[in-house]
Amino acid sequence: MTEKRVAIVTGGSRGIGAAIVRRLAKDGLHVVAVARNLEKLEQVCAEVNAAGGSAEPLACDIGDAKAWAAALEQIGDKHGRVDVLVNNAGITRDDLILRMEDEAFDEVINTNLKSAFVSIRSAARLIMRSKTGRIINISSVAGVAGNAGQANYAASKAGLIGLSKSVARELSRKGVTCNVIAPGFITTDMTQVLPDELKETVKSNIPLRRFGEAAEIAAAVAFFASPDAAYITGQVLCVDGGMVM
Ligand code: NAP
Repeated sequence: MTEKRVAIVTGGSRGIGAAIVRRLAKDGLHVVAVARNLEKLEQVCAEVNAAGGSAEPLACDIGDAKAWAAALEQIGDKHGRVDVLVNNAGITRDDLILRMEDEAFDEVINTNLKSAFVSIRSAARLIMRSKTGRIINISSVAGVAGNAGQANYAASKAGLIGLSKSVARELSRKGVTCNVIAPGFITTDMTQVLPDELKETVKSNIPLRRFGEAAEIAAAVAFFASPDAAYITGQVLCVDGGMVM
């Protein structure tokens, strides 16, 4: 069995996920970073390992439930433990409800929500064996407050909240906690594509008047993964510069 606490982080190749991989490795965990792009994962893990941390890449399309469940089994067999599970990978396929195609709805629900269900179900037994089992799901303020043009995305992110609260109740008898982080606007590839004018309008509506950094979400993940958060479960923490309050 791997000696260090083992964390699985989906979407670990860039943006918020890469920041979470770096932070959890810095905090002494062995991190399995998952995404589709192996090259990018390898870059993040090489950087972590060069800095004295411990991370390994695993290429998988988590939207493919069978492949994802098999990959999780492989992680369990290799390490014999899972202590922290961070369901972070996510996509957007924005459109107004009147124009939204079934395919755009299904793809977003599948990648953002069903993948988290599959990972929790697959890893639950090992997490329950951990003395410090933690599940952390990355939702969004869109899942808390809704957002025009993001019915599919907001539904997937609100779904993560319901999933998390149910899992928190089910696994609490084993001391496992399950919490949600709902980021606001964070500087990553996902928000990079927004037009500059829209970014400025958004910023002026954020009480702290700026976008957040990926490391600021990773810091909240690190807290939920730490012993300091052992008595917190089923909660949604908005890390959003005050957008939702
Ligand atoms: P990002 O920069 O677009 O990165 C998304 C990550 O998810 C990448 O590592 C991507 O890797 C991975 N991914 C996407 N589809 C995948 C699939 N089918 N299988 C495996 N991996 C997949 O996004 P981000 O901004 O860091 O966002 C991370 C999470 O935070 C998402 O759940 C997002 O919804 C949430 N969030 C972000 C913001 C924001 O402002 N940025 C706000 C609220 C919530 P590959 O492409 O290599 O697969």
